[in-house]
Amino acid sequence: MQVIKTVQEMQSYSLEQRARGRTVVLVPTMGYLHEGHASLLREGRKHADVLVMSLFVNPMQFGPQEDLAKYPRDFARDSRIAEDAGTDIIFFPGADQMYPGKFRTSVQVAEFSDVLCGKSRPGHFRGVTTVVAKLFNVVVPHRAIFGEKDFQQLVIIRQMVDDLNMPVEVMGMPIVREKDGLAMSSRNTYLSADERRSALSLSAGLFRALEAFRNGQHKSEELVNIVHAGILAAGLKTDYIEVIDETNLASLNEVTDTARLVAAVYAGSVRLIDNIALRKN
Ligand code: AMP
Repeated sequence: MQVIKTVQEMQSYSLEQRARGRTVVLVPTMGYLHEGHASLLREGRKHADVLVMSLFVNPMQFGPQEDLAKYPRDFARDSRIAEDAGTDIIFFPGADQMYPGKFRTSVQVAEFSDVLCGKSRPGHFRGVTTVVAKLFNVVVPHRAIFGEKDFQQLVIIRQMVDDLNMPVEVMGMPIVREKDGLAMSSRNTYLSADERRSALSLSAGLFRALEAFRNGQHKSEELVNIVHAGILAAGLKTDYIEVIDETNLASLNEVTDTARLVAAVYAGSVRLIDNIALRKN
């Protein structure tokens, strides 16, 4: 495995590999890797001649009051996990590489970026789409892999790729969970023991709602109430709980074939997101 730190080196390496007929696959991450990231890398390995993992804590997607400075970082550990999962290249640029002083351009997907997480994190998705567009231009992947954990992000990136005719195939992968159901996240490391216990009410609520749906409850409001009750009882604060259409993030009153229950809550100051597809089996 090799570590590349400059945009120029990464881009020329990828272009050369592509010219030799090799398939380049990219898994973008912000590091502090867990089994969720590893699952994307292992999937990437199956499709790649050259598997690139980018590791960049993107300042542009953090709000002024958010956790950029304290976002967990451990490059040595990340390198081991990435290598074990079959990564060929870690692209590890500094902020000065990605955003030199003269930087002025951004990419924004209208509407989709303003709902759900976008409401409480203004500018977040503009930061995400801008950095992902840049990573696509620098790594020039044939395929890029993202997790359904950040479902809104996945929908927004697919829209960007479509709208801007980017020659990248976007692939989404299922959420990897801890044994007790909590969706894995680098931010789980912020949780105190008490918050970790309370946080479980989020995934537990989603699973209960799925069960209710499978038992015939098709009303979004009722499914949302199930999640909400568990969140309240555990002492967490709700940002949003909604049933949405997976294709356009629109709120749904009734479950359809493309419905997903999505939620964001706060355990203390830690923001947690999770979601579940509402399918009969
Ligand atoms: P992050 O490092 O948090 O920006 O995440 C990098 C990629 O890993 C994103 O595509 C995430 O959706 C994905 N990811 C994060 N957590 C999980 C998880 N628990 N299961 C599957 N994918 C995940």
